Amino acid sequence: MLILSGGTGTPKLLRGLVRVIDPEEITVVVNTAEDLWISGNLVSPDLDTVLYTLADLIDEERWWGIRGDSFITHTRLKEIGVRERLSIGDADRAFHILRSDVIRRGGTLSDATEKIREALGIRSRVFPMSDDSVSTIITTPLGDMHFQEFWVERRGEPEVIGVRFEGIDDAKPSSGFIEALRREKTVVIGPSNPVTSICPILSLKGVRDAMADKITVAVSPLDGDRPFSGPAARFMRAVGVEPDDAGVISILGEVDHFIVSRSSSYPGRCIRTDTRMDSIEESTRLAKEILRLVG
Ligand code: GDP
Repeated sequence: MLILSGGTGTPKLLRGLVRVIDPEEITVVVNTAEDLWISGNLVSPDLDTVLYTLADLIDEERWWGIRGDSFITHTRLKEIGVRERLSIGDADRAFHILRSDVIRRGGTLSDATEKIREALGIRSRVFPMSDDSVSTIITTPLGDMHFQEFWVERRGEPEVIGVRFEGIDDAKPSSGFIEALRREKTVVIGPSNPVTSICPILSLKGVRDAMADKITVAVSPLDGDRPFSGPAARFMRAVGVEPDDAGVISILGEVDHFIVSRSSSYPGRCIRTDTRMDSIEESTRLAKEILRLVG
């Protein structure tokens, strides 16, 4: 099974999927359009969250970083006048250093991801969507800014006028992604932000065509007509769609099985069920439902 993921909603589903499917049968392809260099290291927020989730290290309060991490380096950097864009924990930073060392020696983000996956003993396959750089740029009345500047530094406050993915036209899917698209029969689009997490993955050359003959499942990240968390509704409006499940499908494209919350107003064919995943039990229940659908 191939799962397309961002860094919060889909990782919640992954912790259920690995309990109902042999983890070795799972391939996760992760959005990298929110990546950025911080203090000399490449931070890949969605990849980090997926890797830490699969290694059972994730901080489930925030859905980023490592549970119980310390912030000694980040705090010391601040004291000596280095302001980091994101609060990087010490253990978290160790993985960023490992990743960046591989890249500094001429390796790819896929090579680096494989090293981290091995170091963490993760049995599922995990690939970045691309080894080429893609950046999500948010257009606001204050000007264009990187997604992380908008969401973290400016706490998501500026009005969102537009969203674009710099570099997407020249970016190729990673070889792991291409292989998975050849090999897997089922593709699950996880409940991630359709604009900033899933759209970049689907926009890579050849991906939509390769998905045409797959069994496709999408889980909506909306609870009724609003997101469970985060800025998805504002981004959806900014790209010209209503923040409801019809809007989600207009971004993702038609799928064989569309799983929505019980309070969804979606008028088309769909499966209405409990899609909230606050606990491992809820994640596992939803994962079982997906498995029942795809056999
Ligand atoms: P990001 O990379 O951190 O933005 O994370 P994602 O794009 O992977 O996930 C963000 C989306 O997850 C939001 O649009 C939320 O509405 C959705 N989400 C968060 N928690 C849940 C949940 O329990 N169930 C479902 N179905 N969606 C969720």
